[in-house]
Amino acid sequence: MKAVAYSSKICEKELLIKANNKKHDITLISNRLTLDTISYAKGKDAVLAFPCDDLSAPILNRLKEMGVKYISTRSTGTDHIDIEEARKLGLKVGNIPSYSPESGAEHAIALMLSLSRNILPAHKQMLEYDFSLTNLVGNTIRNKTIGIVGLGRTGKEVAKILNAFGAKVLVNDIEDVSDYCLSYRARQVSFDTILNESDIITFHVPLNESTRHMVNAQTISKMKDGVTLINVSRGAIFNSKEVFDSLQDEKISKLGMDVYEFEHNVFFFNHSKNPINDPLLRALIQHSRILLTPHMAFLTEEALQVIAEKTISNLDLWESGQCVGEACCCNKICVDTPKALSA
Ligand code: NAD
Repeated sequence: MKAVAYSSKICEKELLIKANNKKHDITLISNRLTLDTISYAKGKDAVLAFPCDDLSAPILNRLKEMGVKYISTRSTGTDHIDIEEARKLGLKVGNIPSYSPESGAEHAIALMLSLSRNILPAHKQMLEYDFSLTNLVGNTIRNKTIGIVGLGRTGKEVAKILNAFGAKVLVNDIEDVSDYCLSYRARQVSFDTILNESDIITFHVPLNESTRHMVNAQTISKMKDGVTLINVSRGAIFNSKEVFDSLQDEKISKLGMDVYEFEHNVFFFNHSKNPINDPLLRALIQHSRILLTPHMAFLTEEALQVIAEKTISNLDLWESGQCVGEACCCNKICVDTPKALSA
């Protein structure tokens, strides 16, 4: 199969080449997929995408016209792909449903601990040879009430770690996850209970119409004063402006974010020489009570290895006329008939 991998990073190139083992003819390019770069997909059967690529309806229609049949995203999230349009066009879409949930979970915990223990201000002080302690008093995780919104693959790992820390863990999920909660002394509760009772809330939900802006002025008003929020899922789970205003008012005391609502075309690229024109992002980066990382929660050697292997496995399955099974995103149509689909 001929494929083009858009937005390919130096850190994943070797892994993709090794996992491919010369089976498929893959062109690796660092450019994002946009209308300006779409011509690289000419003559290809498949596009290997990344969350910063544009897979909106106009792009999908153009890809279809160019003969592309398959899209495999090197991510769990598929919110950058218009799945419904792909389905209408008969384009098959696959993702990487699970690669290393520990990677995302450990990053959420890293943000949580760094904020709780003032690691960033401490580091800034050290650079000034200021060894005083007055502004560095932190809090323990032990005995804090921590809300996890979304107890899927990542949320479960977070619950496990927080249980080991001795936190009181509350969980909200649209599915019944009470059995899993029992194993980690967590309690499944309503979203409102999470908002009302948590000292720290961490979000591990996919971005969809039910989760877009689930953190907004109204939901923040129900939170405890001085709450800490962590988001390693997708930026638009938060209404960024309303979250920032609540941080300024000190309703939210600290904020850890690996993702940002308007990150497209900014995150994943080096803008040090062409400054970004986004005053809100600038304000978030400069704020002393915010810790922002550039969508890197997934970025471990362990995760990159599995992403490369599963990406190639998606191509293998499609080439042999099979559905990619759990990785299939074609709105359940293929999942229900997993064998020998006509490509
Ligand atoms: P998952 O599908 O295993 O789990 C998502 C959970 O959220 C499920 O249990 C689901 O029932 C629940 N959920 C869905 N809608 C909900 C709602 N409205 N309220 C409460 N719960 C809801 O996904 P995952 O692997 O845990 O990843 C979660 C998201 O994190 C992904 O969709 C992806 O967007 C993001 N992610 C980001 C990174 C990163 O590098 N920052 C890495 C991996 C995943």
